[in-house]
Amino acid sequence: MPWWDHARLCRRRSPPAGPGRVLFIGLDGPALRVLCALAEAPGPLPCVLERRSVTAGDVAAGHYPRRLLGRPRLVHAFARLAGRRPDAVPPPGTRAEDAVLAGAVRRRRAGGPGGHVAEGLVARFDRVVQTLAPWHRYEWNPPLEPDVPVLQLVVGEDGRLRRCGTSRWAERGCLDCALRRAEAAPAVGWEAVVRELTTPSAPRPEATGLWPGDCRCRLGADPTA
Ligand SMILES: [Zn+2]
Repeated sequence: MPWWDHARLCRRRSPPAGPGRVLFIGLDGPALRVLCALAEAPGPLPCVLERRSVTAGDVAAGHYPRRLLGRPRLVHAFARLAGRRPDAVPPPGTRAEDAVLAGAVRRRRAGGPGGHVAEGLVARFDRVVQTLAPWHRYEWNPPLEPDVPVLQLVVGEDGRLRRCGTSRWAERGCLDCALRRAEAAPAVGWEAVVRELTTPSAPRPEATGLWPGDCRCRLGADPTA
């Protein structure tokens, strides 16, 4: 089963404008606004990994229509984007992940690492936006480049966004640690997040060692200790 859906894997433009190729993980509430704003900015369409459905909280905050309550969030995201960017809909006969597979095959043929084509199947993006929430019961862990910068956001019970900071994908906080960090973070508007993403990018975060932040959960530490 393909591990992602998206609003069409972007055609490479040269040189890339705006934030480059962005992967959204999670479309809770205001994260949808960020996605739509980025889709209208110059550059390739963002990709989306989201399997959750529209919640009552999404509707109450005005981010999703009531008639889609309980339906996949991607249905609404596609509908919104397709009206503004017809290229958001994949052409007939193609799958969303085809471009990623083609990239993996190209890297393999060019002598990339791995003894099998699947070993080269690491998705490459310029930026990842991961949205988490207290009602999440699991965390996506797609095979991404470990160095890609990820902006972690949390949607609180009040429906507002909190920014947990940017780190390398391999050193991001787990769900529990991100929620704990968000408790101390001020709420930010989705417009501020869009501004951050569309501002000329800062250098990629440097690797500073194994999980140097306050999250060492992937090493087996107890996040509540
Ligand atoms: Zn943690």
